[in-house]
Amino acid sequence: MYPNFLYFFNPICVVQIEPLHNWITHPNELLLISGPCAAESYEQLYQTAKQITELKLPIHFFRAGIWKPRTRPNSFEGVGEKGLDWLLQIKKEFKLKSIIEVANANHANLAKKYNIDAVWIGARTTGNPFSVQEIADALDNTNIPVFIKNPIYPDVQLWLGAIERFALKGFKKIVAINRGCHHSKSINYRNDPAWQLTFDLKTALPNIPILCDPSHIAGQRNLIEEVAQTSINLGFEGVMIETHYNPDIALSDKMQQLNPQELKRIVQSLQLKSAIPDNDLITEQLKQYRNEIDKIDEEIILQLIKRNMISELIGEHKKKNNITVFQLDRWLEILNNRKELGLKYNISKDHIEHLCNLLHQESIKIQADILKQGN
Ligand code: PEP
Ligand code: MN
Repeated sequence: MYPNFLYFFNPICVVQIEPLHNWITHPNELLLISGPCAAESYEQLYQTAKQITELKLPIHFFRAGIWKPRTRPNSFEGVGEKGLDWLLQIKKEFKLKSIIEVANANHANLAKKYNIDAVWIGARTTGNPFSVQEIADALDNTNIPVFIKNPIYPDVQLWLGAIERFALKGFKKIVAINRGCHHSKSINYRNDPAWQLTFDLKTALPNIPILCDPSHIAGQRNLIEEVAQTSINLGFEGVMIETHYNPDIALSDKMQQLNPQELKRIVQSLQLKSAIPDNDLITEQLKQYRNEIDKIDEEIILQLIKRNMISELIGEHKKKNNITVFQLDRWLEILNNRKELGLKYNISKDHIEHLCNLLHQESIKIQADILKQGN
């Protein structure tokens, strides 16, 4: 077990977060949350819950948004309090635990009033410390499970901060959800999967269980399975997937909602992975590969030292001859030349670009420091 506290980004408190199998799942079982994006009518919740139950889908929480945070006004903004009463009836009828999004203290108080079993903090709310704090205050002493989505923009500190606000109040059933981040790239997904952000969170807080929300990452039905499987391959412990008995008539996020049959097919096809190798032979082989990686990393670091030494010489030379540090033509030459080389050896353009940026930034820093020093 890892220490139960936030290190890495200034430890704030000791955090006692329960592993999922202590309170909700069996060991080696995925945590599954499903249900519609939004509660629209009692009939819609009833039909969806009925099909989920008839298909014997192993879901732990039935989700439904009661208040919908829409980017633009005049879209469907949720049915409000009456949806909580519907969820209460669904719970009685189908024995499905409920989970809703809460974005302020009023929502949190109503969740308590209607015996909602768990809450999630939406991406827009995680980015607002005032709202997170008022929700944590309103839910104080309930120890209700709290699921916290990453903020819209990839800021791990905000995500951590939201978790800390609940941890400081003594909440123990805290779970993070990766729902992807806003992007302006040309990728197929609605949101950029925040894999690295998740690893940063896990590094800061090793015991936090993390789920994936492939619906909000993918944004379309046919990509949900691949995102869900990728998250499991990476080590995620569960998924939150939007399901509607008839997605085509959904009032929000209809492109990404599955019907219960589709959900069943995906859940059954997901292949679980174990975090730890289950025999010595596998461990030994992994160790050998890792030894090779260690050696290569050492070589790379030795080469870096050499590269940085040359950057120092370049800095001295530029200083002596009054030449600017940043040289656009040279930078473009490096970038294009290395990308071409990458292409030849089948290394992705993105990877090469990241690497060049890192190398160039360090070189610029070394040279700028030299030019700053007195003669
Ligand atoms: C949702 O789960 O329906 C939702 C609004 O999610 P997010 O906060 O991730 O956008
Ligand atoms: Mn949604």
